[in-house]
Amino acid sequence: MMKQRRTMQAFIFDGTTRLANIPAPQLVPGEAIIAPRLAGICATDVHITRGYMHYHGVLGHEFVGTVVECDEPGWIGQRVVGEINACCHHCPTCARGDEPHCPNRTTLGIDRRDGTMAERFRLPLANLHRVPAALTDEVAVFIEPLAAALEIVDRSHVRPTERIAVVGDGKLGLLVAQVLRLTGAELVVVGHHPERWELLQAQGIATNGDPQALAARDWDVVVDCTGSPAGLEAARRLVRPRGRLVLKSTFHGTSPLDLSLLVVDEIALIGSRCGPFAPALRLLERGLVETTPLIHAIYPLAEAEQAFGAAQGQVKVLLRMSSGS
Ligand SMILES: [Zn+2]
Ligand SMILES: [Zn+2]
Repeated sequence: MMKQRRTMQAFIFDGTTRLANIPAPQLVPGEAIIAPRLAGICATDVHITRGYMHYHGVLGHEFVGTVVECDEPGWIGQRVVGEINACCHHCPTCARGDEPHCPNRTTLGIDRRDGTMAERFRLPLANLHRVPAALTDEVAVFIEPLAAALEIVDRSHVRPTERIAVVGDGKLGLLVAQVLRLTGAELVVVGHHPERWELLQAQGIATNGDPQALAARDWDVVVDCTGSPAGLEAARRLVRPRGRLVLKSTFHGTSPLDLSLLVVDEIALIGSRCGPFAPALRLLERGLVETTPLIHAIYPLAEAEQAFGAAQGQVKVLLRMSSGS
């Protein structure tokens, strides 16, 4: 039985980022206390430290961890990943099955719920998924961004006969491309990081360093994974009339995108955020998506500040929590 804690180390943002000793979370009915094993640093976390969502608290929403406390004994000691939106289960939005959009929700490390970059955090049992034994922690920690990549095909039917361009070769772009490759569609990734393309090229995915080199208004589906206004504009240029433009990245700020161009070309704009965990776990378990080349470095929690510094511009930096819990 792992011992209860009164205080714990956590990496927080309260106007500045810092390591702090804060009260450990206390168990509430229906939730679990989780000891994270690995936490991922995501672009969203970096945006939060620049003011996105006006969030103050423990950072982090990507994790693989171990359940250390909850009311259901079957979960204790289980290695888990977890969906990040904690919904209320009794509003009309939840009743119609749109729990991730519950207006009363809290979101792990993003909105009124302390995140994963700590020795302990709390999440509803309903959000948890057991990690298959075959998956290492270093693979399982990619579940949340991979689920977000899968959300594209969950929301919009991508036909195998369509032509798809993914703009952006960051972590999300590399995961989105691998998911869309499974449709059999013709696929190109546009980005500025040729050193990351080996992973794509090994899977037969075309790559291009210059969006201007691709024919404009020529692609059925274009996915923006850049999180930048310039990337979004590059993506918009590639969509054919009556094609679909999928926005996969949140960015802090506003976009100067010319909406009348979307009207004239009758382009469908699809916003896409969190996705389904169960199929993402299946893709990882079957080895259909590769994540290992995406890991740039792993830091201990005590070096979270340096890890955040290293995460800017890198594909994926992870934090490893102290294991002596
Ligand atoms: Zn994320
Ligand atoms: Zn609700």
